[in-house]
Amino acid sequence: MFSKLVMPDLFKTIAFRLTLWYAGIFSISSCVAFALFYVVATQTLQGQTDLDLLEKARYFSTVIQRNGIMGASKMAVIEAQAAGEKRIFFRLLYPNGEVFASSHMSYWKDISIDHGVINTLSHTKGHVFTTWLIKPNDQKARVLYSFVAKNVILQTGIAMDFQSKFIQAFKTVFIVSMGFIIIFSAVSGLFLSRKALSGVKAIIRTANSISGTNLEKRVPETGNQDELDLLAHTFNRMLDRIEALIKSIREMSDNIAHDLKSPLTRIRGFAEIALVNMDDLDNYRGMAANTIEESDRLLDMINTMLVISRAEAGEGEFVFKAVNLSAMVREACDLFVPVAEDKNIDFTHVVADHIHTLADEKMLQRALSNLLDNAFKYTGDKGMVHVDLQGEVDNFIKIRVIDTGPGIDSGSLERIFERFYRAESSRTSPGTGLGLSLARTIVREHRGDLVVSSQLGRGTVFSIKLPYRNIQII
Ligand code: ADP
Repeated sequence: MFSKLVMPDLFKTIAFRLTLWYAGIFSISSCVAFALFYVVATQTLQGQTDLDLLEKARYFSTVIQRNGIMGASKMAVIEAQAAGEKRIFFRLLYPNGEVFASSHMSYWKDISIDHGVINTLSHTKGHVFTTWLIKPNDQKARVLYSFVAKNVILQTGIAMDFQSKFIQAFKTVFIVSMGFIIIFSAVSGLFLSRKALSGVKAIIRTANSISGTNLEKRVPETGNQDELDLLAHTFNRMLDRIEALIKSIREMSDNIAHDLKSPLTRIRGFAEIALVNMDDLDNYRGMAANTIEESDRLLDMINTMLVISRAEAGEGEFVFKAVNLSAMVREACDLFVPVAEDKNIDFTHVVADHIHTLADEKMLQRALSNLLDNAFKYTGDKGMVHVDLQGEVDNFIKIRVIDTGPGIDSGSLERIFERFYRAESSRTSPGTGLGLSLARTIVREHRGDLVVSSQLGRGTVFSIKLPYRNIQII
């Protein structure tokens, strides 16, 4: 039960996998190093043995030249006795493989005469090395065949007991070292991976302890700019954004609730009055008209919210066509002339001719109307409102709405494009706080931007910037 619950989790951890990789890589590299050392060491030993055997052959050659075959035969016995008969042997053969002299061979009786080698030797006249296993100890022997006189071949062999001892010692060292290396690399791998991942654990702990209400918790940042510090930093910034987002969602839902509550309360009030004055038909009509007006306002607000959220989600249903902007701006201005006259506002416009672009005309009109509506709404009597349309300015078309209204303080300036945001000073004027948010969304859908500059007490300038496209309407 315990193993079922705990082991799978352990196997899944990055620390466990890193440890495994660490131990694996460490062990494999150690094996490769051992193998290389083994190959080099055995080859060097064998090379040395071969040199010794060649030296013996050269010696026999000299002896034959000086003392003849008889001298060499005696030499074979004496040399083997001197070096140890279990260590070395000598056989002197004729080129047909017949033995005519040898040292004491009882230990070496397994080593026969290889006629294939003798044949090869007869052709090459050089020397040939072979390796034998001597039973019963499976001890290796290195054997040399070499011509030591015109018709005399020396077969001499040497026990490679030193090499065998070396291999045996090497095996012991290898097993002990590998055991130690595996344990050491596993322990140090576990230690290193745990240390490296301790920052991740801190992030997991913080993430676990965060609930909807305590978003203010943050992961400690070490400041040493490593990957985990960057991860902690990124995680904290993400939390900042989530916190700000949740705050703005709360504010927005409060605002929506508030903005829905007022017209609904008014609608309810009209219905109540209508109920009380049941016999007065004119009264009924008035109440119905008021209810329709309030309902339209509500619907307009909901529709505006939908347009904004759809556009922000990239699902805006904008239909782009070639639009004569000059005509569109002039028409929008004409619509506001009566408002200007009502409020005694000096309203002027300067519109460049023949400015065309690709746009959703209705939407762009809506954005411009919102800006004009605000300008007239917030500018007091006898103020000034000016609109201008400029053609290509730094690859942009610019529509500006300039007023001499109260201006916007710097704190509000950063927030006026947020949904439902209304500056404190504007709460007395009618509005929903959605106009600028919608205008900016529409302009951005046209790959342009809506920017504002304002001086408190002097006025405000809103500029719609649209990318310049050289489109002519035929
Ligand atoms: P609404 O006008 O319905 O309140 P908007 O989104 O159009 O909402 O504007 C947001 C806020 O920006 C307004 O409440 C107001 O405080 C400020 N504002 C917008 N236009 C102007 C302007 N021309 N002059 C001064 N303040 C403005």
